[in-house]
Amino acid sequence: MNRHPQIYEGKAKILYATDNPDILLAYFKDDATAFNAQKRGKIVGKGEINCQIAAHLFRSIEAQGIATHYIDCPAVNEMRVKSVQILPIEVVVRNIAAGSLCQQTGLALGTILPQPLVEFFYKNDSLGDPLLTRDRLLLMELATVEQLEILHSKALQINSILENFFQLCGITLVDFKIEFGVDKHEQILLADEISPDSCRLWLIGEPDPNLRVLDKDRFRRDLGNIEDAYQQVLARVLGVKE
Ligand code: UDP
Repeated sequence: MNRHPQIYEGKAKILYATDNPDILLAYFKDDATAFNAQKRGKIVGKGEINCQIAAHLFRSIEAQGIATHYIDCPAVNEMRVKSVQILPIEVVVRNIAAGSLCQQTGLALGTILPQPLVEFFYKNDSLGDPLLTRDRLLLMELATVEQLEILHSKALQINSILENFFQLCGITLVDFKIEFGVDKHEQILLADEISPDSCRLWLIGEPDPNLRVLDKDRFRRDLGNIEDAYQQVLARVLGVKE
């Protein structure tokens, strides 16, 4: 496929146009950022690993009836995706308390939540991606009431698919962030990526709170062995039959 000039460069991916206006090519970079890009680095091989993990997870989610933007991977670190208008909302689903939930509520790290918690954040780096209330979200017209219902229900379905999937991998899905886009038919598709950059993943059976971490918290908290952890997630994900 001919690669056209890039149309957008984000923190972890570059998007290129293709010959087909309905299809974009996402190139997954090795660059890593955290804390609203105040911390920057490179995780060797991350682009390829995240692309392969995301592709596998998108296929599993799609197989269970949830539409995604995923088409295929023409190269190990490239994904062809359907062109969508990304909604400026980061949807976070949590099963276990960690990260900003602990910081903002005082809940202890590792508290198992009685039911999955769905949260919406405003995707806006200059404002620091703030937590939104439903009313603020509607006030700012970031989504319609109907879209909000769809996002909430899809997020819970995706959580249940991913939780089961990672359980088969010997991994606990603590929390994750997803993004959605609207296609030319006004359909809402799961978009962006699902990878150790956007999930908290803990190795089941590992009691050490640092050793169990298989996700970007290794980078955020300078825990070391980041490449090994990402590679381990990929190996475990590929071990699950599609
Ligand atoms: N997350 C993400 N991108 C963001 C913010 C959060 O992928 O810009 C993911 C993060 O990796 C975790 C989940 O969303 O799996 C919840 O993150 P949290 O709100 O706890 O924020 P953090 O404290 O990690 O910044």
